[in-house]
Amino acid sequence: MPKVRFQALAESRKREHTSISEIGKRSELFGKHVFNEDKMLQFLTREAFENVKSAIFQGNKIDRKIADQVAEGMKAWALSMGATHYTHWFQPLTGATAEKHDAFFDILPDGRAMEKFGGAQLVQQEPDASSFPSGGIRNTFEARGYTAWDPTSPAFIYKTTLCIPTIFVAYTGEALDNKAPLLRALHAVDQAATGVAQYFDKNVRKVYATLGWEQEYFLVDKALAKSRLDLTMTGRTLVGNFSAKGQQLDDHYFGVIPPRVLSFMSDLEKECTKLGIPVKTRHNEVAPNQFELAPVFEEANLSVDHNLLLMDVMEEIADRHHFSVLFHEKPFAGINGSGKHNNWSLATDTGVNLLSPGSTPMKNLQFLTFFVNTIKAVDTYEELLRASIASASNDHRLGANEAPPSILSIFIGKQLSNVLDELEGVSKGKLSPEEKTELKLNVVGKIPEILLDNTDRNRTSPFAFTGNKFEMRGVGSKTNCAKPMTILNTIVAKQLTDFKKEVDVLIDKKGLKKDEAVFNVLREYIKTSKRIRFEGDGYGMEWQEEARRRKLSNNKNTPEALQVITSKESLELFKEMGVMSEVELKAHQEVELGAYIFHIQIEGRVLGEMVYNHIIPAAIRYQNILLKNVSGLKEVYGAAHKNVAESQLNILEQVGEHIVQIKKLTDEMIDARKRANGMAMSNKKAQAYCNNVKPYFEKIREQSDKLEKLIADDLWPFTKYRELLFAK
Ligand code: ADP
Ligand code: MG
Repeated sequence: MPKVRFQALAESRKREHTSISEIGKRSELFGKHVFNEDKMLQFLTREAFENVKSAIFQGNKIDRKIADQVAEGMKAWALSMGATHYTHWFQPLTGATAEKHDAFFDILPDGRAMEKFGGAQLVQQEPDASSFPSGGIRNTFEARGYTAWDPTSPAFIYKTTLCIPTIFVAYTGEALDNKAPLLRALHAVDQAATGVAQYFDKNVRKVYATLGWEQEYFLVDKALAKSRLDLTMTGRTLVGNFSAKGQQLDDHYFGVIPPRVLSFMSDLEKECTKLGIPVKTRHNEVAPNQFELAPVFEEANLSVDHNLLLMDVMEEIADRHHFSVLFHEKPFAGINGSGKHNNWSLATDTGVNLLSPGSTPMKNLQFLTFFVNTIKAVDTYEELLRASIASASNDHRLGANEAPPSILSIFIGKQLSNVLDELEGVSKGKLSPEEKTELKLNVVGKIPEILLDNTDRNRTSPFAFTGNKFEMRGVGSKTNCAKPMTILNTIVAKQLTDFKKEVDVLIDKKGLKKDEAVFNVLREYIKTSKRIRFEGDGYGMEWQEEARRRKLSNNKNTPEALQVITSKESLELFKEMGVMSEVELKAHQEVELGAYIFHIQIEGRVLGEMVYNHIIPAAIRYQNILLKNVSGLKEVYGAAHKNVAESQLNILEQVGEHIVQIKKLTDEMIDARKRANGMAMSNKKAQAYCNNVKPYFEKIREQSDKLEKLIADDLWPFTKYRELLFAK
C-alpha cells in the first residue's frame, strides 16, 4: 500500500477545528508593527522626520548625519518592540523576496556588548548575493550588488526582525531586482502625469500610481499537499484524474467559508493588520478550496511590497493551520487557475482620482484625457504589457482555454464607447462656440459619476475599465506585481509625455485654446487606438481571427512573449523614460528565459521520477494481482476460465498498453530534454523546452490519468484530486 498517501490522509482526518482568534478593533491594531508617521514623530528628531518626509514626497536624498538619526530612532522603536535583528528586505529577480538577518547585538573593541544600528547599516548593505540571478550583469561588470534603503516604503517588524525595504543594484548602477525599475517607472509617470494634470489644476504637484491587487490562492491540507511530489517540487499537480465533482455546481463560489479556513483567514488578517497591509475582502473563489483576498488600494510601490509580504505571511500562517497555500497559477487541471487582478489608477496629491469621472465638464475632460491616453498607451505597447506577465506557470492561463486570453484588449463598456464615438466627430482645429457648448453639455457633461454598465461588466477582458480604475486581469497569482506595474506606468508615462508635447504645439503654434487642443489630440488618439477596444468575451477562434486582422499580438507562450522586451522600440521607450537601460533589459530578459527553462526542466524531471518510480511500479503491482487471479481461475476452471476472467484479461490488456505508452512517451520526453539542454542560447533553449519538451507533459498525464482510473484505489501512489480538493 502506498504509505505516503494513506498516512497523509489519516493525518488530515485528525485535524481539529481551530477557533477564530480575537482581533478586536482592527483600526487600533493597524500598523502596530510599522515604522509609520506616528512612530517617526515619536522616535525621530524633528529634523530627521522632516528629511524622511521630503525624501518620500520629493525624492530628496537623506544625508549621512540624518541617516544616523533615523537609524537611532528606528533602533529604539524596534528594540522597544522586542526585535533582535534587522534585515535589508529586497526583491531579487527570482520573483520572491530575500533577506539576510543581522543581529543588533554587537561587541565593542573594549569587549562590552551593546545593540548597534547606525546610518551606514540603514542606508546600504552588501548581501552575499552572488547566487541571485543577474542575467549576466555581474559577470559583465565584475561588480557586486548592494541593497539600498527605499524610504518610500516604511520599515516594519516581522516576527523579531526589523525589515527595511530596499532596492538591489549592481555597483555599476544596474538594477538586479524588480523594485528599482518600478521606482523609476513611478517617477516617470509622476512627472508626465503631473504635467498633464496641471492643464486642469495648477495646484497639482505630484501624481501617484495606485494599485489594488486581488490575490487568489488555493489551500490544501499540509499533509496531503506534502504527500505529492509534484505539488512540493513544482507547485502544481502534473498528473491526477479529474475528481467526479469539480466546479460544475459552482457551489463553492461565494459560499460559506469552511471553519478551518475562516480561522486561518482571521489569523492572517490579524497579522496583516499589524503589518499595515490593509486587507479588506475575503471570499471563496470558483474552484473548490480556492479563495481570494483583496486590500484597500495603496500607492503602487507600497502595494507591491505589501503583496510580497502578504505571500510570505500567508505561507507562514497557513503552515500554523496545517495548510499549504498554493500560489501557482494552475495547480489543478480541469478547474480554474488563480490570478491576481491588478487594479490601477493615477491619483494627485490634491486627492483626485484621475480616472474617476467627475461632476463638471472640466473634471470630465481631465478624466477623458487620462482615460484615452491609457487606452492609447496600451494600444501602442500591448505586446510589452503581455510580456510583463509572462511566466511558465502563467502560460497555463494566458493562451490556454482560460480567461483572460493572451491577446490584450480593452473593455470600456457601452456608455464610454458612446462618448468616445461622439468625440471622434469633433471638428479639426478651432471649435465653434456652438460646438463647444454642445460638447460640454451633451458629451463631456453627460458622463455620469457612476458608470452603470460597468457594474454589469465583462469579467473576461484582460484590461477592463471598471468605473474609476483599470483592471489588468492577466497577472498571475504568483507574479510580483512590480513587473506589470513597471511596464504599465512606463508606457503611460511615455504616452502622457507625447500627449503634452502635441497639445502644447497646438496651443503655442496654432493658437488653439487649451480645451480645443486637448479635444483635437484626443480625437486622433481615439481614431488610432480603436483596434485595442473589444467588448466581447475574448474566447474562441473568432476573436483570435479578428485580433489577427487588427494586428494585435497573440503570444501564447513565455519564450515568444519575452522577445519584445529587447526590440528596438522597447529599448528606446525605456531609455527615453529613464526606466531601464539596454543592459538591464537584456539581463532581465535573460533571467526570465532562464527561469522558464528551469521551471520546465524541473517539471520534466519530476514527471520522469513519478512515471518510473511510482506510476509504472503501481501499474505492475496491479498487473500482478490480476495475473495471479487469472491463473487461479485457470486452475479452477481450466479452458473455461476465459469466460470468467474476461474482465480481468481486458483490464490487464489496457494496463499493459498504458504502461507501454507512458514509458515510451517518458523516454521521448527525456530525449527531448537532453537535446534542449545541449543548446547554448537561452532563447533557443527556452523555445526547445516549450515546443519539444512541454507537449509531452499532457500526453504523459493522459496515460497516467487513465491508469489511475483502472488501478485499485489502495495501490494508487498519489493523493487523488478528490482527496486534495474536498478535504476540509
Ligand atoms: P471587484 O468587484 O473586482 O472586487 P472592487 O471595487 O471591490 O472590485 O475593487 C477591487 C480592488 O480594486 C480592490 O483591491 C480595491 O482596493 C481596488 N481599487 C479600487 N479603487 C482603486 C483605485 N483608484 N486604484 C487602484 N485600485 C483601486
Ligand atoms: Mg477584480
